[in-house]
Amino acid sequence: MNLTFSLIKPGAMQHCEEILMAIKAEGFSIIAMKTQHLTFSQVEIFYKEHRDKSFFHEMCEGLTQGPVLLVVIHEKKGIETPLRFRTLLGATNPKEALPGTLRARFGVDINSNAVHGSDSKISAIRELSFFFSGIEIG
Ligand code: ATP
Repeated sequence: MNLTFSLIKPGAMQHCEEILMAIKAEGFSIIAMKTQHLTFSQVEIFYKEHRDKSFFHEMCEGLTQGPVLLVVIHEKKGIETPLRFRTLLGATNPKEALPGTLRARFGVDINSNAVHGSDSKISAIRELSFFFSGIEIG
């Protein structure tokens, strides 16, 4: 799988140029992107596996407080692109993320952790199809 899905969260949109540059510097390319202000119900569906978690409402509020950037990431010879991209993201909590990772650099706290990336090939297929049509997923 040489594609993955990423989302720059509202709290990090002010840094989106820098984030995109850091992504490209790691050898990924961006084949599509669009800005969108997500609705609460879109986020509820997108993150439905977390709906019973204590932080679910707070997480949905954070993701709807302003526009996000939805990004299709590609790697020319990638076979594990979702996993490699997650390494660049860093740990969920920016305070635990390795220095140099996107969340360590641009995250504020666990809820406002700058960037999302699909956590597996199956998630990437679902998430890419959720926001983009016409992407050829091989
Ligand atoms: P993402 O799915 O956004 O890439 P992740 O896979 O690293 O993140 P998940 O466990 O799937 O982490 O959590 C989804 C999102 O929910 C996280 O990105 C984070 O913003 C938020 N979140 C996770 N745990 C907490 C928590 N304990 N308190 C507040 N928000 C949380």
